[in-house]
Amino acid sequence: MNPNNPSLITIAIDGYSSSGKSSMARHLAKTIGYRYIDSGAMYRAVALHALRNGMISHADNSVDADRLIAALPEIAIDFEVTGDTQSTLLNGENVETEIRAMAVSQCVSPVAAIPQVRHALVAMQQKMGESKGIVMDGRDIGTTVFPDAEMKVFVRASAQTRAQRRLSEMIEKGIATTFEEVLANVVSRDHIDETREESPLRCADDAVVLDNSFMSVEEQNKWLIDLYNRIISSL
Ligand code: C5P
Repeated sequence: MNPNNPSLITIAIDGYSSSGKSSMARHLAKTIGYRYIDSGAMYRAVALHALRNGMISHADNSVDADRLIAALPEIAIDFEVTGDTQSTLLNGENVETEIRAMAVSQCVSPVAAIPQVRHALVAMQQKMGESKGIVMDGRDIGTTVFPDAEMKVFVRASAQTRAQRRLSEMIEKGIATTFEEVLANVVSRDHIDETREESPLRCADDAVVLDNSFMSVEEQNKWLIDLYNRIISSL
């Protein structure tokens, strides 16, 4: 509990890649005046650092884990909010666009499977949530980062639906790709995220599951706010 404001809670939104969880989480945070943290952006920033510094193999996207672990103390990740946009900063540089590129999507899950990377980012995330009043989305937020969160949601949707949504987003941003490439990336990230040893992607026992395959964005946002209101009124 936050002694200065006991009504503030911690909200963990986990789920599969491109399930729309970030948009829902961001919308909820804005509506209720909470801080929003995209934990996936933090793993993406570490992956970008590894990519830029020649720690990722061009052949198979494998990571030079020893070099990356040694470089962790040099990596500072932050967020900058300007109006309605939140940008990810890597050592002070705005890398929001670059971390969404396919080159980063292809190496982020192997990077996120390294236990030392996870320990460093989980510690940062727990610090960000110390005073509650936070909505964080990711893969292990309800299971590992905030196991005591008052509100936990797990979002799923079919791989086809998720790939189609991601493709539309990328086309909108002018990023060149194909449906097949996006689908292959979504399926591969699901597999790595679900089978890694350290805090794999899984639904927390006390999370509320949402399959949003056939829901509009407005329906998803309303569903989430209704759930928040129910939880708050039951505290
Ligand atoms: O959420 P997003 O798809 O941007 O996350 C990128 C990748 O970061 C995921 O595929 C996953 O490998 C990793 N990730 C993670 N734990 C989190 C958030 C993201 O392992 N809490």
